[in-house]
Amino acid sequence: MRKKMVAGNWKMHGNLVQNKQLLDAVIADLNELGEDLVVVCVPYLYLPSVQKQLQNTKIALGAQNVSQHEMGAYTGEISASMLSDFQCQYVIVGHSERRMLFGEDNHVVAKKYVAVQNAGMAPILCVGETLEQREAKVTKQVIEQQLMSVISLAGVESFNKAVIAYEPVWAIGTGKTATPEQAQDVHAFIREEIAKQNLNVANQLTILYGGSVKDNNAPELFAMPDIDGGLIGGASLIANDFIAICRALRH
Ligand code: PEP
Repeated sequence: MRKKMVAGNWKMHGNLVQNKQLLDAVIADLNELGEDLVVVCVPYLYLPSVQKQLQNTKIALGAQNVSQHEMGAYTGEISASMLSDFQCQYVIVGHSERRMLFGEDNHVVAKKYVAVQNAGMAPILCVGETLEQREAKVTKQVIEQQLMSVISLAGVESFNKAVIAYEPVWAIGTGKTATPEQAQDVHAFIREEIAKQNLNVANQLTILYGGSVKDNNAPELFAMPDIDGGLIGGASLIANDFIAICRALRH
């Protein structure tokens, strides 16, 4: 049975007071979670306070980025072992905002993925095409390259301890969601690509969809056979919406 999961990506939002209020509401409502995983990926600075608040809950802690380097003279960077000091279990790598705004290419993303695993945490590897790439009908080639750069550095078995998030760039924060069929098509492709190299790894791999998931479209997206949950940006900042999206995993 594949793990189902919803991960919130707070991006650069929140403050101490707002974070506490948001999580109080989420924790109160989601305490009865079954086997599903709920993760919140918070800005670095709030890891200690959120870690405390999540103690004795079933909600896991995640980060949004990491350095590819283990340690050293990298002013302003945060290493994977620093994240694991704060009981981080998941780290987003290769988010399209990092790729596009901060120049992270496939090679850097693959190195970050390895750094996260070496520190005992699970990467949430984001892949996805831009609008131009979709229109040029190269979506699958783009995603294949994004996957292969990780596989060539870390091996396909590394996906036993990772999560993939398919996030079409044109759907992130735009209000445009991929239709369940469009998303399913790419999710099935991702699983097939992994299956070509290792069927068992592919069968147990959790693949999330991300891109303007809201409480009203989550149920139909999560009902697709290869969609195992979501990576949620904007809607993860609104307690009731995030709770409703997590509950959609069950239906
Ligand atoms: C994201 O940032 O990963 C994301 C999917 O954002 P949104 O849900 O706001 O589109």
